[in-house]
Amino acid sequence: MQQFTYERATSPSDALHKIAAAKGGRFIAGGTNLLDLMKLRIETPGHLVDINGIGLDAIESTADGGLRIGALVRNADLAAHPWIRRDYPVLSLALLSGASGQLRNRATTGGNLLQRTRCPYFYDANQPCNKRLPGSGCGAVGGYSRQLAVIGGSAQCIATHPSDMAVALRALDAQIETMRPDGTTRRVAIDEFYLAPGRTPQQETVLEEGELIAWVVLGAPPGGRHVYRKLRDRASYAFALVSVAAIIEDSGRLRVALGGVAHKPWASQAPFEAGDTPAAIAGRLLQGAEPSPGNAFKIELVERTLRSILAR
Ligand SMILES: Cc1cc2nc3c(=O)[nH]c(=O)nc-3n(C[C@H](O)[C@H](O)[C@H](O)COP(=O)(O)OP(=O)(O)OC[C@H]3O[C@@H](n4cnc5c(N)ncnc54)[C@H](O)[C@@H]3O)c2cc1C
Ligand code: SF4
Repeated sequence: MQQFTYERATSPSDALHKIAAAKGGRFIAGGTNLLDLMKLRIETPGHLVDINGIGLDAIESTADGGLRIGALVRNADLAAHPWIRRDYPVLSLALLSGASGQLRNRATTGGNLLQRTRCPYFYDANQPCNKRLPGSGCGAVGGYSRQLAVIGGSAQCIATHPSDMAVALRALDAQIETMRPDGTTRRVAIDEFYLAPGRTPQQETVLEEGELIAWVVLGAPPGGRHVYRKLRDRASYAFALVSVAAIIEDSGRLRVALGGVAHKPWASQAPFEAGDTPAAIAGRLLQGAEPSPGNAFKIELVERTLRSILAR
């Protein structure tokens, strides 16, 4: 690991001040992704600002009947929270399908959103990877693509986003509230938060340098039945090949988001109507997909998973 300096922030404004003072510095929350990447020298920040002591670790109700989740709320606490289990169970189910109990105790809401891809070429410094080393090429295009994207990718990168939590948040139309070093704040819909890889796959989100995720905001509970179905190569402790977050509203309308198929949780803007067939839903969601021979099975897997969810 290369040398780096470390300091603890005591409030959001202190964290923003400290990160602005250290060019190329990074926030560290649970550290469950960043430290692994630093050990592999995939990420080499010269300075870390520890945000575990800044607050933002509560879940609060909002005036419009929704709630906001602090960026430092641990994945385990979020999954177990009575409001989440009662009103947004798809989020609880998605969180519990991810990682392990030990990791969920440490991992945070903000860090989970910003965890990096699990593309095997990204982790292998002997392989070309435009995301790790811009301009070096992409080993996955024409290579081993089982885990990788079937839609939304580019000739430069077909990585998927690995978060289960984010897929549920997309089905819930969550918004992400941030704070910038200059003191301004903004809210971004989760669908607009992640950038398409295009020619610059190293730029993954709209976050600017030193911008802090502060809250994730949910609207009023959608009601209905919530399902999170995750398909993977082994029964636990594995990332999704395909996942489906589904909210079947009392009217029969269906909100769906997919994981494991794109660089971000993948969804259509409009919900689906009662009576739409699984084939029609999958067809609309994955219209324009460009799978490779190694991951074309995901197209059928999405449809079959939808069929299974709706049948149940
Ligand atoms: C073995 C293993 C298995 C896993 N399996 C799964 C799985 O099945 N499903 C799944 O979804 N995840 C899985 N994970 C990933 C895990 O969920 C993430 O590592 C975790 O959520 C990251 O959160 P963290 O707080 O530890 O982030 P950190 O590692 O601390 O940070 C990650 C990134 O986010 C940035 N950051 C953190 N907080 C903020 C903030 N508030 N504002 C701005 N930037 C911030 C950091 O600078 C860093 O770049 C697995 C991880 C491991 C190690
Ligand atoms: S798919 Fe993206 S992350 Fe994977 S090797 Fe290609 S550029 Fe790197």
